[in-house]
Amino acid sequence: MKPKIAFFDFTSCEGCQLDVLNLEGGDLLDLLNAVDIVNFREVKTERDDNYDIAFIEGSISRESEIPRLQNIRNQAKVVVALGACACIGGVNCLKNHLPMDEALRIVYGKDAKYYDTIPARPTHAVIPVDYYVRGCPPTTTEFLKVVKALLLGKKPGIPNYPVCVECKMAGNVCVFERGMTCLGPVARAGCSAVCITSGRHCWGCRGLVDEPNIDSEKDILQKYGLTVEQAVDKFKIYNTYAEVVK
Ligand code: SF4
Ligand code: SF4
Ligand code: SF4
Repeated sequence: MKPKIAFFDFTSCEGCQLDVLNLEGGDLLDLLNAVDIVNFREVKTERDDNYDIAFIEGSISRESEIPRLQNIRNQAKVVVALGACACIGGVNCLKNHLPMDEALRIVYGKDAKYYDTIPARPTHAVIPVDYYVRGCPPTTTEFLKVVKALLLGKKPGIPNYPVCVECKMAGNVCVFERGMTCLGPVARAGCSAVCITSGRHCWGCRGLVDEPNIDSEKDILQKYGLTVEQAVDKFKIYNTYAEVVK
């Protein structure tokens, strides 16, 4: 019997699921040969509430999403958070800096009264989560790595060292040398430092490493004449939940 896999979207742009659909032909066929995908709204209309592994995309930002997520947890043997919104709260948590009625007013204007919202939070703030596929969106490589590990009954090996390590391996010139800030010293690697290699900086979309060396990040900022506030603005984009709610 092939394991039954289900995908669920909560508050999200659905880019993470789209990324799964972007799997290259051979990888997609291998996946379809190894598992039975029973729920995937972007792909099929049929659905089955009997599944083994649930991939959760999106953060939780409405009261009604809490029991829905809890029901999924009760059904699934394994729950995997898929993408930054589900893993760390992500961009949805930017609204947590505002009173909720103000956030509703900004988004929905005069129709705000028809909607409800709560401070956005990652999946692990509501239910126990077994594994995380990080990034905005995650790389298909990491998604496949996690699926393969689950099928083999192993724990997926996800890096727990800073993006700086991969950035140096890629041969990039540090953006601090160009007067920019970067969260690379504290952000979790696994993306091959793709943003820096593409000429930008790291926003920390994969969350922070365990026990990030914040003092070291401050020392670097100071060395280059930059302020903590400049770095915090970047930190907020994906990691507001860690900063504001906890
Ligand atoms: S993690 Fe990024 S790509 Fe995925 S749903 Fe959230 S915003 Fe979209
Ligand atoms: S701070 Fe950013 S640009 Fe500099 S080495 Fe680290 S990841 Fe690369
Ligand atoms: S460089 Fe930073 S922001 Fe870009 S993908 Fe990697 S962790 Fe995310």
